[in-house]
This record gives sequence, C-alpha cells and structure tokens, in this order.
Amino acid sequence: MKRPILIHPDPRLKKHCDPVADLSDDLRKLADDMLETMYDAPGIGLAAPQIGILQRLIVLDCVKEEDGPARPLVMFNPKVVASSDEINVYEEGCLSIPDQYAEVTRPKMVQVQWIDQSGNEQSEEFDGLWATCVQHEIDHLDGKLFIDYLKPLKRQMITRKMQKLKRERART
Ligand SMILES: [Zn+2]
Repeated sequence: MKRPILIHPDPRLKKHCDPVADLSDDLRKLADDMLETMYDAPGIGLAAPQIGILQRLIVLDCVKEEDGPARPLVMFNPKVVASSDEINVYEEGCLSIPDQYAEVTRPKMVQVQWIDQSGNEQSEEFDGLWATCVQHEIDHLDGKLFIDYLKPLKRQMITRKMQKLKRERART
C-alpha cells in the first residue's frame, strides 16, 4: 500500500527516531509499503519518518532501470560504522522536498551495518551514489535533511518554496 509522503517543513521530519526493537510482521509490511511508495514516487531512497513513522527504518534502490535488475534494500537500525576520507559531491534531492536539488559533500565510501527484513545482521561497503543515498536516508532518522548542509540563505529559500507548495496543495 502506497503511503503519503510528508513535505518539509514538518516537525516529524526533524525528530530523532527510535531504534526498532523487534521485527514484527507489521514492520515488514511497513518496509514493503515504503518500497512501493519509493518506486512509485519515483525515488531511490525513503526513510520511515518521511511517511510519519518515527522508527529507524530506511529503504533504498539506486540501480537505474536501464542498468539492470532492481536491488531493493530494507535496513532496520542502519548505522555508518566507517567512512572514507575521500569525499564526493552529489546533486541531491529528497522526496520530502520535491523538485529542489543542491550539491552536498559527503564521504565517498561508507561501511554500513543494519538488520535486514529476515532479522539478519548485514554489513556492506557502499560507494558512489549508493553511499550518498544511504547517508542521506540515515540522516533522516536523526531529523537531518540535505538542505541542513546548505548555507542558511539557500536553505531558507527552499523552505519558503516548500511552504508555498504546501499552501497550494492544501487549497486544492
Ligand atoms: Zn530525503
């Protein structure tokens, strides 16, 4: 089932999310809903707070359609355990900040640990777009958005545009 995506500014997007204690069927279903919502958007990543659920859960798939089969990843309690000194600059966007893009600098490679949908611990090193995406999604779990990396003026400009968008959407 598709879920509505919250648009910035929203207090739920600024919250620190709680770790997932036990993997229930409800949580697995929630992860499936998040994947469906992400693919439909379309996007390459989605964090639970973006649909108003304040738990540490993200989904991502950075395989471009023309590049091969999908690789949906579901991560409960994801954690960056190591990151490279080498950095990378990507033009990032966010499903909670539609149609706004800006360059963000992050470590080029990260080692991430998480619990998968079967309850198994996983660890993998991500590079390039995958590394950027997984860091962006984990940031969401700590109430951090990609615009928080921008200069205040640029951030305010984007926030005002989003406020206007939300007013327009509320009217229709
Ligand atoms: Zn985002």
